[in-house]
Amino acid sequence: MPYAEVCVNSPAASRPAFSYSIPANLDIQAGQAVWVPFGRQILQGIVIETGQIPGYPETRDIAGIIDAVPVLSAASLKLGKWLAGYYRCPLFQALGLMLPPGFERRSIGLLYPAENTTGSASLSLGDDERHLLDRLNRCGLLHLKDIEKMLGVRRAQRAVSSLVNLDLARRQFELEPARVKPRQETFVELNISDRLYRETIDKLTKKAPRQAAVLEYLFSQSGPIPWRQIHQATSASTAVRNDLAEKGLILASRQQVNRRPIPEAETRAETPLAPTGPQAHALKNICQSLNSNLGQVFLLHGVTGSGKTEVYLQALAEAIRLGKRAIVLVPEISLTPQTIERFTARFPNQVAVLHSRLSLGEQFDQWQEVRQGNYNVVIGPRSALFAPVPDLGLVVIDEEHEWSYKQDTSPRYHARQVAVEMCRLHRATLVLGSATPDVESYYRASRGEYRLLSLPERLAPRIAPALPEVEVVDLREELKSGNRSIFSRALQNELAGTLSRKEQAILFLNRRGGATFIQCRSCGHVLGCRRCGVSLSYHFEEEKLVCHHCNHRQAVPRVCPECSSNKIKYLGAGTQTVAAEVAELFPGARVIRWDSDTTRQRNGHRDFLHAFREGRADIIIGTQMIARGLDFPGVSLVGVINADTGLNLPDFRAGERTFSLLSQVAGRAGRGHAPGKVIIQSYYPGHYAIQAAARHDYPAFYTRELAYRRELHHPPFSKLIRLTFAHTSDEFCQREAFRLKAELEQQRDCRGIAGISLVGPAPAFLHRLRGRYRWNIHIKGSQPVRLLEVVDLPGRWRVDVDPLGLE
Ligand code: ADP
Ligand code: ZN
Ligand code: ZN
Repeated sequence: MPYAEVCVNSPAASRPAFSYSIPANLDIQAGQAVWVPFGRQILQGIVIETGQIPGYPETRDIAGIIDAVPVLSAASLKLGKWLAGYYRCPLFQALGLMLPPGFERRSIGLLYPAENTTGSASLSLGDDERHLLDRLNRCGLLHLKDIEKMLGVRRAQRAVSSLVNLDLARRQFELEPARVKPRQETFVELNISDRLYRETIDKLTKKAPRQAAVLEYLFSQSGPIPWRQIHQATSASTAVRNDLAEKGLILASRQQVNRRPIPEAETRAETPLAPTGPQAHALKNICQSLNSNLGQVFLLHGVTGSGKTEVYLQALAEAIRLGKRAIVLVPEISLTPQTIERFTARFPNQVAVLHSRLSLGEQFDQWQEVRQGNYNVVIGPRSALFAPVPDLGLVVIDEEHEWSYKQDTSPRYHARQVAVEMCRLHRATLVLGSATPDVESYYRASRGEYRLLSLPERLAPRIAPALPEVEVVDLREELKSGNRSIFSRALQNELAGTLSRKEQAILFLNRRGGATFIQCRSCGHVLGCRRCGVSLSYHFEEEKLVCHHCNHRQAVPRVCPECSSNKIKYLGAGTQTVAAEVAELFPGARVIRWDSDTTRQRNGHRDFLHAFREGRADIIIGTQMIARGLDFPGVSLVGVINADTGLNLPDFRAGERTFSLLSQVAGRAGRGHAPGKVIIQSYYPGHYAIQAAARHDYPAFYTRELAYRRELHHPPFSKLIRLTFAHTSDEFCQREAFRLKAELEQQRDCRGIAGISLVGPAPAFLHRLRGRYRWNIHIKGSQPVRLLEVVDLPGRWRVDVDPLGLE
């Protein structure tokens, strides 16, 4: 077939694919990665399809193939097209999600002096041009990047163009070197018969003892041995190896080896547990879908500790039994060694892990091995959904309500949404699990789009009460009765009791840092970041104010910048403040602070958790990180210092978020011997999200939340697309936002697209971020995307389909 439609890796590509002709000597298939000429550059491209007639009449030749084997399957190409359409992103970006780690390579621009620059002295050149030409002639070659660094982008482009136009310099593009390659190692094996071996050893032992040592080592082993291993055993140098190879006594070869993040020997095998009634019911349904390729979507709803993971494990076993493979997604935060171990223990040597904390080399090798079918299960965060798993039969998304499944850079996909589409393409079964399902997922289940499976009760491993008792404390009452501590009297009493019984407690905060913001007692001024317009956090240890958006740091002022009063006071509570107050009230208590400040080191949190689990601390104080996926048998008390922090956010999902966070926190207590108690402190104790979380009552929360969503026509009763524009000038930003809104309205009305409303423009929640102002427009309706299909959105507008949270 002489023509190929190729999706080109260039931000300048104006179309999803371009037509190229296939030179006679190349064998090209759909899904293959190729080099193509694009403008003056040679770029990477993915062949979308091949055919007899080009989509566009003028074609250039494909320059070469990157890999003989297609890098993307037909299903992946389809999924890529769906992603680009649904999330309104360039096709290459969508396909990029499915390419091997480190695949994408940019071309780098280089500037060379022209062969003959005599006479340039007589030309009247600007200062930049003159300076650049001198430098170029001295160096013989400059990177365009470095020139841009030297002069700034605009001046650099101007100077380079004028030198090129005057034929004083020549621009050329080359590909940057590959960032990752298969790892090659030298392997060595004996190349002499057993009979000759003795003779040789005798000869060598005196003359060349090191060579003899290597031969003896090889003789004691079988097959080709990595040279690294021989070197470790005999400390022989490469020179020794070369001598032996030259004499023909050994054969050395380069072989590809795989970097594996889970060492094989470490896993211990474990057998399935006999399912309880509800587990058996859930499994029966899931296995039916697996066996008959029904490709159903299940929502597995069960509180923490109700046995969801056991259901995943047995469903995986069934998929593997049927010769299929599976993907398990977990939120990044719970991708802990314990989680991975639960899966590897059940399926030894069959589990691959794919996540960004692995080295690029490890990611690359795991990806290749997954594609070769060496693993039955792939586990990882949202990106693992795009692993090249052959014969995909099952996808599991644990904690499906978690927001980390939504990517916050383009393509802004949600792994759940993509998984639904992906499973449809593969006729694979999808299991979504959660203790607090996303309201939209539960709504779909209630309408029969998903099958709802419930695990109604908690499986207490050792006879323990079903779920902890939860008490909501009204902080307004505390203040009225003169208690100025951040701990209510109830929480103080419970803490004292817990400590005296030698049990453990978790104190939970929705923030990090010290006293979170600083407010002037005289005039009420709150110190904020000048670039981002959000309040600055006080960090005790450095005695600095820190912006949590742009990382701006400054000293704490002595007097209020507004009114010059010296009554600048620390307000709010962070983990440090709570730790300080615990130390004052309970001097003997051993405390661990667990937040992103103290656990930044690679193994930071593992060490903390280990110490706590072993009982080497009495109280752990932490931020939202401790709310998820962790299991501490010794904990009998959980205190939520302030439940309201999230409720006041101007986001229609604030209630859902607070409910799910509080439910998860409450699920931390009472998993072991001791009965659990949870204390939630709040200034709005009557709020339905707090009340429902306190009673472990998902249906009550869901009913109220859904009524509110229906009334205000929020998702799931509508779909949203958020458009964001950013600019250093607030005024310009605002003007552009209003201009676009007018255009959108006009297009909607003159094309008669019904059922779409435009919300805003409004300044974004983080109105100023990294020195730029941001304005949002929301398109709301049953099919808001229809409007974007007919409007040419300027490239600087950012599109977020199904946005989550505030921007
Ligand atoms: P979840 O994933 O819902 O939090 P898990 O699957 O982790 O729940 O189960 C909670 C605890 O109960 C675990 O310690 C697990 O080993 C145990 N468990 C789960 N299913 C069973 C079962 N059928 N029989 C006995 N113990 C079980
Ligand atoms: Zn003041
Ligand atoms: Zn800032």
